[in-house]
Amino acid sequence: MAEIEKVRCLIIGSGPAGYTAAIYAARANLSPVLYEGILPGGQLTTTTEIENFPGYPNGISGPEMMEDIRKQAIRFGTDIRLGMATKAVLKPNHNIITIDGEKQIEATTVIISTGASAKYLGLDDEKKYAGMGVSACATCDGFFYRKKTVIVVGGGDTACEDALYLSRMCAKVYLAVRKDKLRASNVMKERVINNEKIEILYKHEVIGLDGGNGVESALLLKNRGEANQEEYSIPVDGLFLAIGHHPNSGLFAEYLDLDAEGYIKTKGATAQTNIPGVYAAGDVADPSYRQAITAAASGCKAAKDAERYLLANGL
Ligand code: NDP
Repeated sequence: MAEIEKVRCLIIGSGPAGYTAAIYAARANLSPVLYEGILPGGQLTTTTEIENFPGYPNGISGPEMMEDIRKQAIRFGTDIRLGMATKAVLKPNHNIITIDGEKQIEATTVIISTGASAKYLGLDDEKKYAGMGVSACATCDGFFYRKKTVIVVGGGDTACEDALYLSRMCAKVYLAVRKDKLRASNVMKERVINNEKIEILYKHEVIGLDGGNGVESALLLKNRGEANQEEYSIPVDGLFLAIGHHPNSGLFAEYLDLDAEGYIKTKGATAQTNIPGVYAAGDVADPSYRQAITAAASGCKAAKDAERYLLANGL
């Protein structure tokens, strides 16, 4: 059997939290090893313009920003590798992480920054038309819907951002919002409301899809549970989900304290989990803010916590 590689600081995940943790850990001489996971750069690589990260007065694209932070982590010596953590056995100072079902790493400290994944509605038709008209990434797949009609589901910032992005290439964009109002920030709300190509369908749910080799129509339910509840179909070529995310914490659930939604619990203002030397940063531990800047900041905290832990324990 192959020898187990030993590392002082293992970082799992490569969004703003993971890369920032790597910058701090590398500068603190912890010789961090970072595994990038299935989507190097994380969720921000699927967004368009980031306008609210301090330091970019004119905004920056998600992929560009992630590449910059990655380069910064490499500059200080982070060993960045392609690969996915597939198993974790967490034990203080002797955490064994399996990569891609094969390679094993024994890590003294572990920083978990595995992010979150898109939620789906749970319809059979979502599976039926996966990749053939159903997507949870407008910036990845929008290109395929040029001059077509699509429906976006959700009422938050992501849904608004996706609807706006799609409006630049599609003929028409419906936005199905289950409540009678948008939850998004005011600036996003205004942009969506003022966009002529976007039609907001308040108190609407998508309950099915129909078509042949691809989606041709969406079945909608209007005013669920009310006297005027109504079902009807509209012709659409694509369905885009933007209804939030769930944390990628399943791998660690046996060992770590999670909240009811699966977010990893951290102690007070630190990134410390219930296992000494194991830290969580970014969206996997953040049910409320989920911003690039807060993820980056928590990555910094996790690396500082790991550095202090190693020092305090002479490791
Ligand atoms: P949110 O959790 O903010 O919003 C999810 C939306 O999906 C809500 O409108 C919710 O409805 C709706 N929804 C949830 N489940 C269902 C369902 N089963 N059927 C129909 N609708 C459903 O997630 P976001 O991804 O939009 O945003 C996450 C965080 O990221 C937020 O803090 C947001 O501000 C931030 N963000 C910021 C951006 C920016 O600043 N540029 C861009 C994108 C995200 P309801 O309101 O009824 O609960």
